[in-house]
Amino acid sequence: MELGDRELVRYSRQMMLRGFGLEGQKKLFSAKVAVAGIGGLGSPASFYLAAAGVGYLRLIDCDVVELSNLNRQILHWSNDIDRPKVESAAMKLSLLNPNVRIDAINEKITGENIEDLMEGIDIIVDGQDNLQTRMIINEFAVKNKVPYIYAAVYGMEGYLMTIIPHKGPCLKCMYPGEPPKPEQFPVLGTTPGVMGCLEATEAIKLITGIGTPAVGRLLVYDGADMSFQEITIKRNLNCPVCSQNSSHTN
Ligand SMILES: [Zn+2]
Repeated sequence: MELGDRELVRYSRQMMLRGFGLEGQKKLFSAKVAVAGIGGLGSPASFYLAAAGVGYLRLIDCDVVELSNLNRQILHWSNDIDRPKVESAAMKLSLLNPNVRIDAINEKITGENIEDLMEGIDIIVDGQDNLQTRMIINEFAVKNKVPYIYAAVYGMEGYLMTIIPHKGPCLKCMYPGEPPKPEQFPVLGTTPGVMGCLEATEAIKLITGIGTPAVGRLLVYDGADMSFQEITIKRNLNCPVCSQNSSHTN
């Protein structure tokens, strides 16, 4: 993508940030980010990534929009019901920023197809609703040394940790057991709103090199008492995914 002076105006306020500038904007234009799930987390995350001028977004989701999604999945509107989420999201995001190249992939992420789905991707942003798929993403991320921004929500609580393979703990270091079976859980719409914004912030930081990512720090947001806490997460030296002894590392 060419960056005309006129188009740069769109990004002028973020380029004023210390350490950002034209160089940071060029890095964003060159970045390829996958948003794995375009629901409560993926909607705000992809919205801010597109607004910030990330050059390429790959949206991956296999669901269609349902009425019960609309309290939180802000890229999908009432007239999108029954439409594939990736289509609904791609349409809104390209209206927001026509300079962003968007691929809408209507597929479920599995251990078999993840290598293809994530091909050429620089950063993966978590938009999942279950730990099982997150573990598949985590394994891919560690094996291919692709940063993975993990986030999850439950009710009015949100969690975030940035996983930079081999520089900090992975998701399996944090959740060593078997992932529980996916089930429906309560969500106030603003919770994934907060966490999706935080995910986009982390992605923009990693791409531009500004700030300090939440590596080895699980951020816990509690909307009920309006607090943020941090829990230090250490690498598990025997982690089956990211340790020296694992079959996934070379
Ligand atoms: Zn690990």
